[in-house]
Parts: sequence; C-alpha cells; structure tokens
Amino acid sequence: MSDFLLHDEPVKQVYLDANATTPVLPCIADVVSHTMQICFGNPSSPHITGIQAKHLLEQTRQKARTVIGASNGDILFTSGATEGIQTAVVSTLINAKKYPVKNPVLLYGATEHKAVPNTLKHWNSVLDINAEVLAIPVDSNGILDLDFIAEHINNALMICTMAVNNETGVYQDLPAIEQVIRSRNKNVSWMVDCVQALGKQALALSDTTIDYAPFSGHKLYAPKGIGFLYIRSDSAYTPFIAGGGQESGMRSGTENLPGIAGLNKLFSLLLDKSDSTFKSVDVLNSYRSQLQSAIVDTFGNITFNHDFAYSVPTTLNFAVNDLTSKEVIDLFDAAGIRVSGGSACSTGASTSFVLDAMGASKWQSENAIRLSFGPAATQQDIDNACGRIRALRTILQANCLIVSDSTTPQQEVCALGLTQFRHQGACSWLYVSDDKHAVIIDPIIELIPRFEKIANTQDLTISAVLNTHLHQERESATNLLTSVLASRVVKGEVDSLGWPVGAANISLANDALEKVATPGHSKDSVSYLLKNSSGETRYCFCGDLILPAGLGNTSLMGGDAKAMARSILVISEQLNNISIICSGHDYQQCFAMNWAVQQSQTPLLNALVSGSISVDEFVIEKQQYDASKQVNNTQLCGYVNALPEVDTLQLNFDDAKIMLNTSDVYLIDTREPYEHGANNVAQLFNILDEKTLNIPLSRMANAVFEGQLNKNNKYILLCRSGNRSKIAASNLMQLGYKAVYNLNGGLALSN
Ligand code: PLP
Repeated sequence: MSDFLLHDEPVKQVYLDANATTPVLPCIADVVSHTMQICFGNPSSPHITGIQAKHLLEQTRQKARTVIGASNGDILFTSGATEGIQTAVVSTLINAKKYPVKNPVLLYGATEHKAVPNTLKHWNSVLDINAEVLAIPVDSNGILDLDFIAEHINNALMICTMAVNNETGVYQDLPAIEQVIRSRNKNVSWMVDCVQALGKQALALSDTTIDYAPFSGHKLYAPKGIGFLYIRSDSAYTPFIAGGGQESGMRSGTENLPGIAGLNKLFSLLLDKSDSTFKSVDVLNSYRSQLQSAIVDTFGNITFNHDFAYSVPTTLNFAVNDLTSKEVIDLFDAAGIRVSGGSACSTGASTSFVLDAMGASKWQSENAIRLSFGPAATQQDIDNACGRIRALRTILQANCLIVSDSTTPQQEVCALGLTQFRHQGACSWLYVSDDKHAVIIDPIIELIPRFEKIANTQDLTISAVLNTHLHQERESATNLLTSVLASRVVKGEVDSLGWPVGAANISLANDALEKVATPGHSKDSVSYLLKNSSGETRYCFCGDLILPAGLGNTSLMGGDAKAMARSILVISEQLNNISIICSGHDYQQCFAMNWAVQQSQTPLLNALVSGSISVDEFVIEKQQYDASKQVNNTQLCGYVNALPEVDTLQLNFDDAKIMLNTSDVYLIDTREPYEHGANNVAQLFNILDEKTLNIPLSRMANAVFEGQLNKNNKYILLCRSGNRSKIAASNLMQLGYKAVYNLNGGLALSN
C-alpha cells in the first residue's frame, strides 16, 4: 500500500459529514486534472497558454457573480473561507483606525464558526484596535437576538453574522438583520459567512448591503484550497496578501487555476437548469425526512437539537438520549458510516459551543451528533445511508445499548464477569456472577442508562449497588440507579455505602464479596474483595485507596496518610500477585493491573508493603508528595506516576495478515462489542472466526483474570485508529505477555 493512497474499506463507506468537507465530484475532478495538465498556464503570462488561463479565470469570476447574485462589487479568489474572513476583518479594522468610535465593539454571532471570533480577536489585538469583542446571543432556535444588535450597533466597527450554521444548519433572517443594522448604522462593516449557504440557499448579494461574504470550495464538491470572497463596491479594502499584483493587486500570488477551474465546473452545474446534479429544496427535505425516520427507528429515544423549520435540510443534529456521542460515532464508524460529533473543527471539545449558546442541555451539547449530506446527494445515497443506519438496530439490541422490543431478545453479548465503565477519569465496575447476580460498584450518574439497559436485557438480579466512599454526586447516582432498577435490586436495609446491614458477605455464585474498612483517602473509605471458594481474592475494588500506578490523595477533607498506610498493609495481606486491582479512577487508561504489577509501578506502595520503609516514613513521604501535587492538578482524587513507556511491537496490515496464518497468532479486536459487531474483521484478514477475539478495554481485566489469554500465544491487537489497541498492547506487555503486537493505524489503514 502506498503511503498516501488509502483504499476504501471493503464495505463502502457512507459519508454523512458533508458540512466538514465533501468529495470532489468526478466531473469537477476531471476539469481540475485537465487544468493541471493541459490548460496549466499562468494567467499573468502574455502568451497564448497564459491568455487561455486568464480567460478561464475571468469566466469563473463571471459565473461566481451569477451564482451569488453579485452583479457589482469584487470577487476575489482566495485559498478558502478562512482567508476571506481575514481579508474582511483586516480591511475593516485598518479602515476603522481612520474613523475612531467611542467605546468600540466588534460584534459576532455566538454560533459563528470559530474562524470568525478568533480572527476578530487576533487582529483586534495585533492592530491595537482595543475594541470589545462581543458575542451576539441567540435564542433556543439559534436565531440572533436583534435587540442586542440594535443596542450595540452604533458603537460597532464590524458585525459578523452567518447565513447558515455549520453544526445545525440553522439559517438567519438576513433581511431582518439588515433592517436592524442599517436603520441605525449605515456605514458599519457587515460580513456574512456564506460557506454553508452555497448550493443550499438562493443568494442575491448585490441586492443587500452585505460588505463581505466569504465562500469555500471544499464544502461544495470542489477541491480544498480554493474559495472566494465577495466585496461590495466601495467597502473598505486592504490587500491581505501583497506581492506580484495578481487579482488587480487585491490578492497577490499566482492564482490556483486548477481550483478555480473546479469552481468553474461547480458553478456551471449550479446554473444549468437542465442538470439534475443539485437537488431542489423539496427533494432535500424528503432526504432529511427519510434520514430522520431511519435514526428514530434505529435509536428510538432521540432529541433533535434544532428546529427543522429554521434549518436548511442538509444537516441533522441530534443526541441519542441514552448513548454518548462517542458510542454512537464509534458504532457508526465501525459500520462505515461517517458522521461527526458537533463541529468537526472543534473535535476534542467536550461540549458544543453552538448548542450551549442555544441553551441546549449539557447532555445534548456533550453528545451531539451531526449528520450532514451534500445537495448533490442522490436517492440511492440516501437509501444506502438509511439501510446502513437501520442495520445498526440489531447490533444495538445485541449489545444492550437499546432495550429490545422483541420477546426473545438476542443476547450475544453477555455481561458475565467483570466490566469496567469509564466516564472521564472515573470508573464504575459491574460484576455479574454465573447465576446472573450482579454488583455495581461506584456508579456514575452518566452511566446509569447503560446499567439500566444491561440489567434489563440480561435479566440480572442486583445484589448490591455499592460505593467505596461517599462522593456527593455518587450518592445521588446510587439512589437514582436503585430506584430505576427497583424491581431488580435485592430488598433489605443497607448502610450509607450500600452494603446490606449485618451481612458478613454478599454471595455471588461460588464467590463471595467481602467489605474491608480501608480509610486513608477519606474516613469512610472501604474496599470490596471478591474471593473464590478457596478464599483467594480475585478482584479488589479499592476505590481511591490505590489507583493504577498511584495512590489516592490524602490531602482532601477526611484524608489521613497514616490511616492509608495501615489500610494498604491490611489489604495487602488479602491479595496475591494475580489479584486484579479495580480502582475508582483510571487516569492513565490501565484497564487491568494485577497486584504484582501495581507494586512494581508504585514505588511508595512497594516500599511500604515490602517493609523497606516504616508507616511513619510512608506518612512523611506521602504528605510531601500530596502537598507538592496539590497545585494545578486536575486529578483530584489521587496522583499517579507516569507509566514507563513500553515499546509496543508495531505491525502493518500486510505483515499482520501474514503472521495470522501461523497457528499460535490470534487477533484481538479491542473495540467495544457494538463496533466489533458492525464489521467483520475475520473476513478482512481472511482468517477463521476462531482466530479473532473481541476483548474491549472495558473487559480486558476480565479476560486477563479469567484466563481467556495464553502467555504462550502471540496476539495482534487492533482498533479503529491504532490508539486504543496500542494502550491495550502496552498494558498486556506490562502484565507479562511477551508477544503482543499492535496494528499500526488500526482498521483505518487496513485495505
Ligand atoms: N465558516 C464556516 C461556517 C465553516 O463551516 C467553515 C469550515 O468548516 C469555515 C468558515 C472555514 O472554511 P475553510 O475551511 O474554507 O477555511
């Protein structure tokens, strides 16, 4: 496989992320390629090749005018919308220096693409304008607050609004905004970001008083790196790029002629009434309805994050009420359906600032899924997309992600044994015995729907819902969980941590759970030990006493380093080298640590347990350590050591395929079962199903303890991108598995 030519997966992808970018249409790619090879001239050259290039350039400019209804004003070709935005802002602010305004403000819509406020703030500071940069609030539909504009527009040097929002598709009432602006301030510079409007809304810019309108090619089937900017006649202008004087000196640099040729073809398609590439609003509306039904039928409990009445039809933004956006996106991705969480440009942000501005709930904002298609989508594309989405329903049911409405639900994925659930750095644990009795330890409020579904679909009896110490929000999570699962929870009086009053242990098939007081992180801290019939500890649920490669914090209220030392010594008596440590936090993503590895990774713990330091020495060191870490630490509940880098053995797809032909080599898919169920990795690697195991990170501790893995075998670990499996590979190596390989680049780079 060449380095840059990535092949599509065997199951062709369904691309529903058009607001992030679009593929170049084949007919556009053809003209781009033709321009690179045949009509490749420099428009500034005086010879015939140059003249032909210049003709193409000017013809494209004319077509742009027609498409956006700009019979006058300037059209400049740029590298994309971000450059257009810079040009508009810099032109405005340089001009504003000549006409000082008292208490100047720069206004922008609160839901604007980050390119806008960040550009305003940057040049406001660089050019020493010192204006106040103010976000115009929006209502719950995402519509700009016109009263706010009216209040501030007289002091404004510039106002930036957008035609169509990239996360929600919500469009603004531009005539109403214009009325408010121009009735109060005839000269203020007004930029309208039209990136997401092109091809989806009719535009007539010369009929408006909009000063600047940036556009971007890659959002509408043209290549990346080409865009254009409309500038109204007589609006302020300063070249943002100076040089050889191209574009009449307004934007220097040899023009991106292949990109411009791409726009040319795009404009021809948009203007040709007989061409059916771009669909009418009615057709796009019907596509949206079909996708909406597919989503609702598949996931059931959906909240749409915007009102379709105020949105262009090509964007659907929603949250699945009980599933995180990560779960939904991972599932979609595994099934070859590409969608985005909120805005692709701000991936990594935990909430969507657009939905926050609209007053959406935290859940909606954190778990927003954006599904967007381009206006050239065909009915067949939509049929494929809907079919692929609907096929997910069986996987969701089989994985307890939705409660089955069938009387005989499939239960391929079984929660027997130990499962770790994570929310941010915190962990909850579920242990289910062979006779389907379960304990849930340290439940986290966000995970309640998952526990509820698992318990209901797997018909579990909940023996106890336990906490390892009282954290405020955990108490309410326990109460909520106990009430939603009331009919499944074993009745009886329990103490403040959920332990049945007077019980010596909780029996779980052949095993028994015992409670041990382990103060230190807090006064009320306890640990729960799951012991087999021979009294050996299999799992130690120790809350924040011991964290993977670290110890709990003792400097919080109720913390006591001496008590912690004693607790560690008490508990160490009950552990053996292969007991699995199940902590309340996992800041470093070590899904599974056994007691032997825990000691080797935590020097202070090791020194205490081995007797090389006394309890008093431990106390001094621990207090110093906690005090030194207290400043600026987000890991409040405990401090962990950096894990030593384990050099994982990396394999590419072809080498992995060859290795898998050997008898003792197995493939471990570390993705969650619902992702594993969505595509067939055995088929991809051309191996028997028996050669693949699905062990997600959440079930790795269980697999290690239950002997699902054999230290004499070789394992190749894979996930979507190679990141999750790399962590798993390095953890398995720490646990003493020698031949563990990671599939570099994961499924994304497998052909
Ligand atoms: N404005 C909006 C509304 C966008 O959606 C984007 C791209 O995501 C941009 C501006 C930036 O466009 P470009 O990628 O062409 O710089």
